[in-house]
Amino acid sequence: MEEGVDSPPTSKKRPRRPDDHQNGSGLGGGGGEKDFLPYFKPNYKRLYSENSINTEFKVFIENKNGQDKIGNKSPVYLNHIFSNIKGVVAIRRINANKIVVIFKQHNTANNFLNNNSFLESHDLKAYIPAAQIEKTGIIRFVPATISNKELFSKLTSTFEIIAVRRFMKKVGHELIATQTVSITFLSNFLPESVQYDLFSYRVFDYVPPLQQCYKCFKFNHHAKICNGKQRCSICSQEHFYKECPKPNEICCVNCSGPHLAISKLCPIKMKKIVDKKNKITYASVANSKLNIDFPPLPVCSIPVNKNDNTITVNNTVSKNINNSLSKNVNKSIISKPVSQASNIKSQIIENSEVLMALVHTLVQIGNKTDDTPITTTFIKDILIKNLPS
Ligand SMILES: [Zn+2]
Ligand SMILES: [Zn+2]
Ligand SMILES: [Zn+2]
Repeated sequence: MEEGVDSPPTSKKRPRRPDDHQNGSGLGGGGGEKDFLPYFKPNYKRLYSENSINTEFKVFIENKNGQDKIGNKSPVYLNHIFSNIKGVVAIRRINANKIVVIFKQHNTANNFLNNNSFLESHDLKAYIPAAQIEKTGIIRFVPATISNKELFSKLTSTFEIIAVRRFMKKVGHELIATQTVSITFLSNFLPESVQYDLFSYRVFDYVPPLQQCYKCFKFNHHAKICNGKQRCSICSQEHFYKECPKPNEICCVNCSGPHLAISKLCPIKMKKIVDKKNKITYASVANSKLNIDFPPLPVCSIPVNKNDNTITVNNTVSKNINNSLSKNVNKSIISKPVSQASNIKSQIIENSEVLMALVHTLVQIGNKTDDTPITTTFIKDILIKNLPS
């Protein structure tokens, strides 16, 4: 976690205290703060690219006015209204306010996003979830004198930059710019670095803050969609904290410990934060740039010998790696000319030493317990060590 660093001022800012403003970016007080409003690429609209590595193309749908909740509609109704939309392969409910419609192809998903007559007639808005096509990383030690707009225009990278957000820290009632900046790339992977003229900033994974509901004080959902009862963040009983009759009897909703429900002292909250960080780290293993800097690998032919006791690997990690590998690999092969791809493919399939070196490399990355970031160089170094000399 970014200790002591606030989340970038997005519209989904996490409530920090029950008495905080919960309605958005809340940049208040002090001069020059316009420089630190999130800066987005002008006229940017999320659409799926034809080179997308996605295997399914998700579109989230919500009501525009929030009254007639789409997530509570019957499947019969949803099947009916989507029956004339081309390319839909599945519809799923996410919550009362949101459903996801899945398309098999990028262009049918994009067509639907631009189908204003359908969306307007049902009073709906549709969008691609950011995680499908964008990846956010952070860079550190960026002088607070440089505005987001200036960073946007000056920074260059192997992937297109679509948003720059300065992390802000609340000091009293003022938001102060920190030296940490989040950069969102139009890519499913993070680049290793971004360039500011000659200077190269290393890009780190961005771990979004843990979401805590300010109604029930459980995690990973917003009060807007909370089905729980209003709880008191002080004594944990069923009332609003401002009406607490026993403000001296502090008892956490989640662990019954002597701290506020929002406190970072809560062991349950701490565990959630750590789990979240680990999940991101594993995801970055799975999403490492194997498909960019490495030759395409044949998926099914990696001979993971299940009886080989010498290899121990966390199953989830290994599964993630294999899944990601298969996804990325398939795409890489598809995007290359057939002869070139199959040539590399056969070279690898026929070389069991190379395959075993790859397996050992993946296992070592999966079993890694320290915090060093998993970069392409890091992966290459391990692979080179594992390859027969
Ligand atoms: Zn809740
Ligand atoms: Zn209370
Ligand atoms: Zn607690």
